[in-house]
Amino acid sequence: MFKILVCTAVCCLLFSPLPLSAKEAKSRYITLVYSSQQQLDDFNDNVDLGRKLGQFARKKNVVTVEDEVLAKLDTIMEKAETVLDMFPNNLTIKIVLLDSIDEVAQVYKQKYGKDVDHIAYYSLSEDTIYVSVDDARLHVIAHEMGHAIVDHYFDVRPPYNIHELMAQFTEKHITD
Ligand SMILES: [Zn+2]
Repeated sequence: MFKILVCTAVCCLLFSPLPLSAKEAKSRYITLVYSSQQQLDDFNDNVDLGRKLGQFARKKNVVTVEDEVLAKLDTIMEKAETVLDMFPNNLTIKIVLLDSIDEVAQVYKQKYGKDVDHIAYYSLSEDTIYVSVDDARLHVIAHEMGHAIVDHYFDVRPPYNIHELMAQFTEKHITD
Protein backbone atom coordinates (compact mmCIF):
# COMPACT_ATOMS: atom_id res chain seq x y z
CA MET A 1 0.00 0.00 0.00
CA PHE A 2 2.76 2.36 1.01
CA LYS A 3 4.67 1.58 -2.17
CA ILE A 4 1.69 2.37 -4.37
CA LEU A 5 1.19 5.70 -2.64
CA VAL A 6 4.82 6.59 -3.10
CA CYS A 7 4.70 5.56 -6.72
CA THR A 8 1.63 7.66 -7.34
CA ALA A 9 3.26 10.66 -5.76
CA VAL A 10 6.35 10.25 -7.90
CA CYS A 11 4.27 9.91 -11.06
CA CYS A 12 2.42 13.08 -10.21
CA LEU A 13 5.71 14.90 -9.78
CA LEU A 14 6.97 13.61 -13.09
CA PHE A 15 3.93 14.20 -15.25
CA SER A 16 2.01 16.98 -13.63
CA PRO A 17 4.03 19.91 -12.32
CA LEU A 18 0.84 21.68 -11.31
CA PRO A 19 -1.24 20.37 -8.46
CA LEU A 20 -4.63 19.12 -9.59
CA SER A 21 -6.23 21.89 -7.57
CA ALA A 22 -4.60 24.59 -9.72
CA LYS A 23 -6.78 27.67 -10.01
CA GLU A 24 -7.01 29.90 -13.04
CA ALA A 25 -7.87 33.58 -13.23
CA LYS A 26 -7.99 35.82 -16.30
CA SER A 27 -7.39 39.50 -16.90
CA ARG A 28 -6.90 41.57 -20.03
CA TYR A 29 -3.35 40.30 -20.67
CA ILE A 30 -2.88 37.42 -18.28
CA THR A 31 -4.13 33.95 -17.52
CA LEU A 32 -2.81 33.36 -14.03
CA VAL A 33 -2.35 29.81 -12.74
CA TYR A 34 -1.75 29.29 -9.02
CA SER A 35 -2.09 26.43 -6.60
CA SER A 36 -3.40 27.93 -3.36
CA GLN A 37 -4.65 31.10 -1.70
CA GLN A 38 -1.49 31.17 0.42
CA GLN A 39 0.66 31.12 -2.70
CA LEU A 40 -1.37 33.96 -4.20
CA ASP A 41 -1.14 35.99 -0.97
CA ASP A 42 2.65 35.52 -0.86
CA PHE A 43 2.96 36.56 -4.49
CA ASN A 44 0.85 39.64 -3.82
CA ASP A 45 3.03 40.61 -0.84
CA ASN A 46 6.27 40.10 -2.75
CA VAL A 47 5.28 42.00 -5.88
CA ASP A 48 5.24 45.59 -4.68
CA LEU A 49 4.63 48.10 -7.45
CA GLY A 50 5.81 51.11 -5.51
CA ARG A 51 3.93 54.37 -5.23
CA LYS A 52 3.84 55.54 -8.84
CA LEU A 53 2.91 52.29 -10.59
CA GLY A 54 0.80 51.19 -7.64
CA GLN A 55 -1.65 54.00 -8.14
CA PHE A 56 -2.49 52.70 -11.62
CA ALA A 57 -3.18 49.22 -10.24
CA ARG A 58 -5.44 50.68 -7.56
CA LYS A 59 -7.54 52.41 -10.22
CA LYS A 60 -8.60 49.01 -11.51
CA ASN A 61 -11.57 47.19 -10.04
CA VAL A 62 -10.14 45.41 -7.00
CA VAL A 63 -12.12 43.40 -4.45
CA THR A 64 -10.21 40.19 -3.77
CA VAL A 65 -6.49 39.38 -3.59
CA GLU A 66 -6.92 37.65 -6.94
CA ASP A 67 -8.27 40.93 -8.40
CA GLU A 68 -5.36 42.83 -6.87
CA VAL A 69 -2.78 40.46 -8.33
CA LEU A 70 -4.37 40.62 -11.79
CA ALA A 71 -4.57 44.43 -11.58
CA LYS A 72 -0.87 44.55 -10.69
CA LEU A 73 0.09 42.20 -13.53
CA ASP A 74 -1.92 44.17 -16.10
CA THR A 75 -0.35 47.39 -14.83
CA ILE A 76 3.17 45.97 -15.15
CA MET A 77 2.36 44.75 -18.67
CA GLU A 78 1.03 48.15 -19.73
CA LYS A 79 4.06 49.92 -18.30
CA ALA A 80 6.42 47.39 -19.91
CA GLU A 81 4.79 48.05 -23.30
CA THR A 82 5.24 51.78 -22.77
CA VAL A 83 8.89 51.32 -21.80
CA LEU A 84 9.56 49.30 -24.94
CA ASP A 85 7.22 51.41 -27.08
CA MET A 86 5.85 48.14 -28.45
CA PHE A 87 2.14 47.43 -28.32
CA PRO A 88 1.50 44.08 -29.95
CA ASN A 89 -2.12 43.24 -30.79
CA ASN A 90 -4.03 40.70 -28.74
CA LEU A 91 -1.21 40.18 -26.27
CA THR A 92 -2.21 37.48 -23.83
CA ILE A 93 0.17 35.24 -21.95
CA LYS A 94 0.03 32.72 -19.16
CA ILE A 95 1.79 33.17 -15.81
CA VAL A 96 2.28 30.09 -13.67
CA LEU A 97 3.16 30.61 -10.00
CA LEU A 98 5.54 28.09 -8.47
CA ASP A 99 6.52 28.09 -4.79
CA SER A 100 10.28 28.29 -5.05
CA ILE A 101 13.35 28.30 -7.24
CA ASP A 102 13.49 24.51 -6.74
CA GLU A 103 10.06 24.12 -8.25
CA VAL A 104 11.06 26.27 -11.22
CA ALA A 105 14.11 24.04 -11.69
CA GLN A 106 11.89 20.96 -11.50
CA VAL A 107 9.47 22.21 -14.18
CA TYR A 108 12.36 23.32 -16.40
CA LYS A 109 14.11 19.98 -16.05
CA GLN A 110 10.94 18.07 -16.97
CA LYS A 111 10.53 20.09 -20.14
CA TYR A 112 14.09 20.64 -21.29
CA GLY A 113 16.09 18.04 -19.37
CA LYS A 114 18.52 20.63 -18.02
CA ASP A 115 19.40 21.82 -14.53
CA VAL A 116 18.96 25.55 -14.05
CA ASP A 117 18.73 27.97 -11.14
CA HIS A 118 16.38 30.51 -12.69
CA ILE A 119 13.97 32.33 -10.40
CA ALA A 120 11.72 32.76 -13.45
CA TYR A 121 11.68 32.06 -17.16
CA TYR A 122 9.52 32.79 -20.16
CA SER A 123 8.76 29.86 -22.42
CA LEU A 124 8.53 31.09 -26.02
CA SER A 125 6.80 27.94 -27.22
CA GLU A 126 4.20 27.98 -24.44
CA ASP A 127 3.84 31.76 -24.19
CA THR A 128 4.12 31.27 -20.46
CA ILE A 129 6.07 32.86 -17.60
CA TYR A 130 7.03 30.46 -14.81
CA VAL A 131 8.01 32.29 -11.65
CA SER A 132 9.12 31.40 -8.14
CA VAL A 133 6.79 33.13 -5.68
CA ASP A 134 9.64 33.33 -3.12
CA ASP A 135 11.64 35.42 -5.56
CA ALA A 136 8.85 37.24 -7.40
CA ARG A 137 9.50 40.98 -7.49
CA LEU A 138 8.38 43.79 -9.75
CA HIS A 139 11.66 43.74 -11.69
CA VAL A 140 11.54 39.99 -12.23
CA ILE A 141 8.01 40.13 -13.64
CA ALA A 142 8.86 43.17 -15.78
CA HIS A 143 11.89 41.37 -17.23
CA GLU A 144 9.92 38.28 -18.24
CA MET A 145 7.04 40.37 -19.61
CA GLY A 146 9.64 42.26 -21.65
CA HIS A 147 10.54 38.93 -23.29
CA ALA A 148 6.85 38.21 -23.95
CA ILE A 149 6.20 41.63 -25.52
CA VAL A 150 9.29 41.44 -27.71
CA ASP A 151 8.32 37.95 -28.82
CA HIS A 152 4.81 39.08 -29.79
CA TYR A 153 5.95 42.28 -31.46
CA PHE A 154 8.43 40.98 -34.01
CA ASP A 155 7.48 38.67 -36.87
CA VAL A 156 11.08 37.53 -37.03
CA ARG A 157 12.45 36.74 -33.59
CA PRO A 158 15.44 38.93 -32.69
CA PRO A 159 18.74 37.22 -31.82
CA TYR A 160 18.96 35.90 -28.27
CA ASN A 161 21.28 38.68 -27.00
CA ILE A 162 19.02 41.40 -28.33
CA HIS A 163 15.96 39.69 -26.85
CA GLU A 164 17.75 39.64 -23.49
CA LEU A 165 18.87 43.26 -23.84
CA MET A 166 15.30 44.42 -24.40
CA ALA A 167 14.07 42.43 -21.40
CA GLN A 168 16.80 44.05 -19.27
CA PHE A 169 15.81 47.46 -20.61
CA THR A 170 12.19 46.82 -19.56
CA GLU A 171 13.32 45.73 -16.09
CA LYS A 172 15.56 48.78 -15.69
CA HIS A 173 12.93 51.34 -16.66
CA ILE A 174 9.78 49.77 -15.21
CA THR A 175 9.69 52.26 -12.30
CA ASP A 176 10.60 55.37 -14.32
ZN1 LIG B 1 15.90 37.33 -19.79
